[in-house]
Amino acid sequence: MTTATTDRVSTATAEPAPVRQPAGAPEFRFFSGTVARVQRLSPNFLRLTFAGPEFTGFGVGGADQRIKLVLSRDGGPVRDLLTDGPGWYQEYCALPDERRPYLRTYTVRDARPLLGEIDVDVVLHGVDGGQHGPAGSWAAAAVVGDPVVVLGPDRSGTGRAWGVEWAPPAEGTLFLAGDETAVPAISAIVEALPSGRRTIAVLEVPEAGDVLSLAVPAGVEVRWLVRGARARGEALGPAVHAALCELGVAAPAAGVEPEDVDLDGGMLWEVPDAGADGCYAWLAGEAGMVKKLRRRLVRDLGVPRTSVAFMGYWRLGAAEGS
Ligand SMILES: Cc1cc2nc3c(=O)[nH]c(=O)nc-3n(C[C@H](O)[C@H](O)[C@H](O)COP(=O)(O)OP(=O)(O)OC[C@H]3O[C@@H](n4cnc5c(N)ncnc54)[C@H](O)[C@@H]3O)c2cc1C
Repeated sequence: MTTATTDRVSTATAEPAPVRQPAGAPEFRFFSGTVARVQRLSPNFLRLTFAGPEFTGFGVGGADQRIKLVLSRDGGPVRDLLTDGPGWYQEYCALPDERRPYLRTYTVRDARPLLGEIDVDVVLHGVDGGQHGPAGSWAAAAVVGDPVVVLGPDRSGTGRAWGVEWAPPAEGTLFLAGDETAVPAISAIVEALPSGRRTIAVLEVPEAGDVLSLAVPAGVEVRWLVRGARARGEALGPAVHAALCELGVAAPAAGVEPEDVDLDGGMLWEVPDAGADGCYAWLAGEAGMVKKLRRRLVRDLGVPRTSVAFMGYWRLGAAEGS
């Protein structure tokens, strides 16, 4: 286990040599490889290992490092459609609709640059009667040897520009909550925390078999909630309340009304600059659920807005990018 989020690469092997980039090189680029392993972790989680020589240059900037999975729309190869460099997105948008690949966001659960491998844990949300999407369907059908292309960091860095949102203050208690799509990020975050930092993480997963085993340091408590037949987030609300009371931050703040966040207006995403003392909270998952949790923290429990990072990872009924 590493002790700093910015150093998160697997320590199963020696530390990788630093990747040297010319000045001004883009921070992100496309990496091509293949699916090297497919591991069913639980009824709803599938771990895919992507590997290839290009991944030896993959940089991880923090515990919740995000990437984009690039998926063919027409069944053809995608790499030749994409260009590296600052203009990649404009060129991507200029592709004809029927050829423009799907982009879907995922978290790097682990990276082993020396071996040229990264792990991504995918929620199989379309498998049991749920709504299919290109990424969930692709992952469910993935076999060893399938080609894969991801957009990811070209060198290790720190900070938001690198696709990392976890940036807590140096001191104070930590609180994390999320649904199954946030399990990979929260798992990586809590496993990388230093020993002794008081932390509670509350995770809601679809069924009992989705409770995963995590190697967390002393001071970190992970609470799993099984959704079962309940509505998404229903179990999280009271569990979040109880956890924050235990952390000593439940002081209802009369008159504090967080400004409403408009779900229809775009992304639900706010990551304040950490710095406040006290408890730092990090919420991620389905946007409607995250919005309710945030209201509970800020309005009902009096957690300062500036101490709550919240991220709508996906939105019920809407495909990513729509
Ligand atoms: C920073 C970030 C990190 C993320 N990390 C991960 C990760 O590590 N693992 C992971 O599995 N997901 C992760 N997600 C969420 C993932 O990007 C979405 O679930 C994505 O929509 C899946 O793409 P799709 O092509 O399968 O479905 P889409 O085409 O985007 O959506 C199709 C339909 O499926 C629904 N849908 C999408 N996701 C789910 C779901 N999980 N459960 C139920 N219905 C769903 C949509 O509402 C829509 O109706 C992350 C998102 C962000 C922003």
